[in-house]
Amino acid sequence: MADGILDGKLALVAGVANKRSIAWAIAQALHGAGAQLAFTYQGERLEGSVRKLAEEAGSDVLVECDVSADDSIDRAFEQVGEQLGGLDILVHSIAFAPQDTFTNRFIETSRDAFRMALDVSAYSLIAMARRAEPLMAERGGGSMVTMTYMASERAFPGYNIMATAKAALECSVRYLAYELGPAAIRVNAISAGPVRTLASAGIAGFKEMETVIEERSPMRQNIDAADVGQAALYLCSPMSRMVTGTTVYVDSGYHAMGI
Ligand code: NAP
Repeated sequence: MADGILDGKLALVAGVANKRSIAWAIAQALHGAGAQLAFTYQGERLEGSVRKLAEEAGSDVLVECDVSADDSIDRAFEQVGEQLGGLDILVHSIAFAPQDTFTNRFIETSRDAFRMALDVSAYSLIAMARRAEPLMAERGGGSMVTMTYMASERAFPGYNIMATAKAALECSVRYLAYELGPAAIRVNAISAGPVRTLASAGIAGFKEMETVIEERSPMRQNIDAADVGQAALYLCSPMSRMVTGTTVYVDSGYHAMGI
């Protein structure tokens, strides 16, 4: 569909845990369009599985990156600069909140859980964008894409502190877009409907979310990760060259509904 549209482009994909990861679907779409990829993995536990997937996408550039540690992010971007030779595209597909925050009452959210969820799921975009900026500026611009969910705007029982983190993430997208726009670096978010992944397995009521989408969304069907991959490809390619600071919904149109 978009063969060769990303030929010569260099992309860093953060957030592949396994084949079901949304980041993996995005990586496949970018690779299919000609981009050369690098991947992050969080720790030794995941290195092997991410390496196998990276190979499938023609990549041998793997860098360790725990986004909750500044020195880890510093090292990762140094390695990306050296091994990939620059950066045009950053895919940020990372989130974490302690498991009990999805089952406890929202009002019970502890200071530590708040800090951890906001740090890993929202601050990490700012931290990665700061390290990506010089690499992208050297190449005349770039595109950053992050993953969000509509629970940032309306209450979805059980999503809890992750919803607060997504609100902060979406707000950060707008500020980053404003600051990086003059360097031709665009920053956008994709708000995806429910997709079965490792992260979503922890969310109570997930099945119910899927059922509601089937019954009430304009398109009456759930999305899959490949649908997100295609939207990310659009946001990372010149097809969206004047699009920045926004959230694109890949949710069968559910966000447009009032009931
Ligand atoms: P996933 O496969 O579990 O991906 C989440 C990724 O975040 C994993 O690779 C995980 O690595 C990584 N991560 C967590 N803490 C990290 C840290 N400290 N440093 C580096 N990486 C860390 O689940 P997913 O559903 O594809 O999630 C990707 C993004 O999409 C998330 O932002 C999620 O909120 C968003 N999203 C998902 C859905 C959905 O329905 N699935 C809908 C809308 C938005 P580890 O496995 O090593 O922890």
